[in-house]
Amino acid sequence: MPELPEVEQVRSSLVPHVVGRKFTGVRLDVPKMVLHPGVEEFQKSLVGRTITGVGRRGKYLRLELDNGMWLLVHLRMTGALLAVKKELPEPRFTHLVFQLDGPENLYFTDIRKFGVVALMDGDGYEDKGYASLGPEPLDAELTPQYLKEKAKGKSTVLKAFLLDQSIIAGLGNIYVDEALFAAGVRPTRRVNRITRKEWEALTIAIKAVITQGLEHHGTTFRNYQDADGHMGDNSRYLQVYHRKGLPCLRCGTLLKQIKVGGRGSVYCPHCQK
Ligand SMILES: [Zn+2]
Repeated sequence: MPELPEVEQVRSSLVPHVVGRKFTGVRLDVPKMVLHPGVEEFQKSLVGRTITGVGRRGKYLRLELDNGMWLLVHLRMTGALLAVKKELPEPRFTHLVFQLDGPENLYFTDIRKFGVVALMDGDGYEDKGYASLGPEPLDAELTPQYLKEKAKGKSTVLKAFLLDQSIIAGLGNIYVDEALFAAGVRPTRRVNRITRKEWEALTIAIKAVITQGLEHHGTTFRNYQDADGHMGDNSRYLQVYHRKGLPCLRCGTLLKQIKVGGRGSVYCPHCQK
């Protein structure tokens, strides 16, 4: 699933293709992708509107429109937004086409069809996931005190805690495993047993792995690509994710994979306590 660095790369790569462009039509093959409003209303409301900006919050994209409405997009597992010249063939797995007034259309492709869009038109509709997002990893608000406070009285395992989008927005399996390794803490620890020093190490590690992911335009393993169809370069810098059974790059111990809260987690049994 695209996480913060990947979604941010999609955002910045979209800008030159779509900002200032007007919707001339919307073709929708998978109606369930539209969460709000109804399909016809969705299509009608977009046509004629100009895109004025592209924002991001957590793993959500926001396409801002000239009338104050905005389009919320979540790529989920395998979604992608591709800007492709109109004379070229439509990309594979296209389920939603935003026809634009320029030389390109914007294609929402999705192998698994879990991606969603919603038009935020000020009629009171709220996306629960979006509305409850916690601070961004690079916000000044994300501090060891903040995490310690949030963890108070909870016996959640650390991995699930860090994946909770209402605690921190934008982290997923890749960057959580990387941050846990960098901080030297095991994914299975209970959050009420994490020490002050460990929260400090975790905060630094989270900010570092996200910064590194952003610098390398995200991590591509299978499906993730940006609006130009480019892949991320960050996979070669990962220390533990996807390295089950390989030697730890720090100590040589073989990395272990376990399931934590239903998610595969790779860690070093020697370096992580
Ligand atoms: Zn190690």
